[in-house]
Amino acid sequence: MARYTDPKCRVCRSAGVKLFLKGTRCFSPKCPVERRAGVPPGGIKRGRRSSKSDYGIQLKEKQKLKNLYGVMERQIRRYFDEALKVKGATGETMMQLLERRLDNAVFRLGFTPGRSVARQVVSHGHVMVDGKRVDIPSFRVRPGMVIALAGKALKVPMVKMNLEKKDYVAPQWLERKAAVGRVVRLPNRDEAETGINEQLIVEYYSR
Ligand code: SF4
Repeated sequence: MARYTDPKCRVCRSAGVKLFLKGTRCFSPKCPVERRAGVPPGGIKRGRRSSKSDYGIQLKEKQKLKNLYGVMERQIRRYFDEALKVKGATGETMMQLLERRLDNAVFRLGFTPGRSVARQVVSHGHVMVDGKRVDIPSFRVRPGMVIALAGKALKVPMVKMNLEKKDYVAPQWLERKAAVGRVVRLPNRDEAETGINEQLIVEYYSR
């Protein structure tokens, strides 16, 4: 029997949630998470008890966050360490720092169908911040910054298609007019990914 082996989709299937790693496919009925709800890669292994240790649960949540924002282990750890130094809830601060990444802002502005495409668009030099080209996906956006797509990006089919969507609504921390967006204020925790229990990740790194 044919198996669906796309590595990105396998990541979603093992997390058990849609992480939106493949652009338009993620919004179509072809998404394997929708077609094979709850079935992890390799199928359900009968007779085998799954690990339900606290460590296992925390690790899984951390992996989910890492894959969702498309960042490396070292970067996630750095966000956590930085959040620890800030007054307030560490988990919420970490989520806010992730949300302020330029690739995430490009995705949230509705310029791309997913963060992986947004990261490509940024690293290929198609994004301007305050009139200057910025090709660092982890670049941190601040209130007042203007994020615009450079001319060539408008020819990328996925970007073009996304900009034509009539049902796009910007999150309240951002505003957008055509291919130009602005950071209105810092994002709240509720405006970052809601399917993550950041407390588990704080516990994971505090072991
Ligand atoms: Fe694949 Fe996207 Fe569905 Fe994830 S959300 S399984 S990346 S199609």
